[in-house]
Amino acid sequence: NIKLLKQESPCRWRMEKYGPMRVDALFFGNKDIILELDDTTVSQVRDVASLPGVVGQVCAMPDAHSGYGFPIGGVGAFDEKHGVISAGGVGFDISCGVRTLTTGLKKQDLITCDAKLADLLFKRIPSGAGVGGDIILEGDQLDEMLLGGASWAVGQGVGKPEDLGRIEGNGRNNFADPCKVPLKAKQRMRNQMGSLGSGNHYLEVQYVEEIYDKAKAAAFGIGIDDVVVSIHCGSRGLGHQIAKDYLPMMAKAAPGFGIKLPHKDIACAPINSELGRDYLGAMGAGINCALANRQAITHLVRECFTDTLPQADLRLLYDVSHNTCHREEFKINGKKKNLWVHRKGATRALGPGHPELPREFKKHGQPVIIGGSMGTASYILSGTKDSAEISFSSCCHGAGRVMSRAKARKNFKGNKIQKELGRHGIIIRTGSFKGIAEEAPLAYKDVDMIIESTQTAGIAEKVARLRPILCIKG
Ligand code: 5GP
Ligand code: MN
Ligand code: MN
Repeated sequence: NIKLLKQESPCRWRMEKYGPMRVDALFFGNKDIILELDDTTVSQVRDVASLPGVVGQVCAMPDAHSGYGFPIGGVGAFDEKHGVISAGGVGFDISCGVRTLTTGLKKQDLITCDAKLADLLFKRIPSGAGVGGDIILEGDQLDEMLLGGASWAVGQGVGKPEDLGRIEGNGRNNFADPCKVPLKAKQRMRNQMGSLGSGNHYLEVQYVEEIYDKAKAAAFGIGIDDVVVSIHCGSRGLGHQIAKDYLPMMAKAAPGFGIKLPHKDIACAPINSELGRDYLGAMGAGINCALANRQAITHLVRECFTDTLPQADLRLLYDVSHNTCHREEFKINGKKKNLWVHRKGATRALGPGHPELPREFKKHGQPVIIGGSMGTASYILSGTKDSAEISFSSCCHGAGRVMSRAKARKNFKGNKIQKELGRHGIIIRTGSFKGIAEEAPLAYKDVDMIIESTQTAGIAEKVARLRPILCIKG
C-alpha cells in the first residue's frame, strides 16, 4: 500500500488514481505517520476516490485512521450535479466539533478555585452516555431547534447574540429539514439538549502555554497564560440515529441509482435524488442540533464561572465542526464550482480573505480548534490561503488514535490515569473511569507531531498551544 504513495513534499504524499479510482488521493503527514498508516485506512481513501462525481483529490489528514466506511480524517468533495452524498462520509456524530471561549482570566486566577470550578462544571453540565439534562424540548420546540441551530438557542436567551458571528455558518445550517429526521432520532433528543455525552467528548479549562504568531493571537483575542474553555461534543443521540437510519437506506438504494459501492459500508446516494436530498435535510438538522447543543452548554459554563469567578467574561472565540458535509465553492481545473465537501474527522480551515469569515478574522484566516488529549496539548491554528487548493480548506481534527478503545481499556486503568494526571496538576472529573481509560493520553498519537505535519503540509498554521487545567469527561 505504502509503496503506492509518492512523496511530493516533506508532508504531502500522492496516490495516483488506479483501478476504480476516479481521482488521486493526497495523504498528509511526515514519514513516520505515513509508514504507520494501516491498510484499511488506505483502502477506505481509495473507496472514497472511486465514488461517482468525486472531484479534485481525496485527502487524508495527518490524524487519519479507519472509520465506518469512510476514513476518519478524510475529505471528499463531490460535484453538485453528478456527485453523491454519503452518510458514512459525515459520520455518526453529525457536526461533532469544538468551540473555544476566552475568559479574560489568567492561569493564576484559578489556582485557589480550580477544584471548586471542576466540581461545579461536573455537577451542572450533564455528561455520560445517554444522559440528558434539565432542558426538555416539548412539542414544536424540537423542530424549531433543528431549524434554528445556535440562533434558536440565542433566541431562547441561551447565550449572547454576538456569539453567533463566531460560529461556522453563523450558527445555523440552511439546508436543515426537520421533516426528514427520523422520529426516533427526535425522541432521543428531547431531554439531551445541553449535555456533553460520553467518551471522547470533553469540557476542558485550558491555559495558553505558547504563542507562535503574535498578530494572529491578538486578532483571536488570546495571550500567554490566558484561561480558555473548550467544549467538544456533537449532536448526541439525534445525529447518531440519523446516521443509523440513513446508512442502510443508502446502501439498499445504491444499485437502483446505478451505483456500485466500492464497499458495503460506504453508503451514499446521488445528491440530486430524493434520498440524497432527504439525508441532506436530516444532516442539516443534525448540524443545527450540535450547534444548539454547544450553545446550551456554553450557557451553563457561563453560569458556573459567574458563580466561582464573577470577574470572568466568557466570549466565544470560534466554533467549528469536524463531521459535516457543506456546499462550498472551489476552483476545479481553474473553474469555480459548487461542491459538496465531506469532512469526517477533519476541520474546516478557511484561509484569509474567505467571504464567510467575520471581518475580524479576514486578514488572518479562520481560527481552527484542535483537541489533543486530556494530558497533553491542544492547539489553535489558522487557515491558510493554500489549503483551498491542497485540501478543500481542511486540516486535521485531533491527535488521532493509535489504539482502539478496546485495547486502551485493556492497557489502562481510568482511576490510575486520573491520579497520575492529578500529580501533574490536571484535574479530571468523570462518571466513567472506563471512558478515561479509552481516552488515555497514550491512546492517541503525539499531537505536536500531527500539528507540525499539518503546518508543513501547508493546510493550517500554528497560532497557540493550550494545556489542560481541568477536564470534564463524559
Ligand atoms: P473525535 O472527534 O475523533 O472523537 O476526537 C477529536 C480529538 O479530540 C481526538 O483525536 C483527540 O486528539 C482529542 N481528544 C480526545 N479526548 C480529549 C480530551 O479529553 N482533551 C483534549 N484536549 N482532547 C481530547
Ligand atoms: Mn463526537
Ligand atoms: Mn469530535
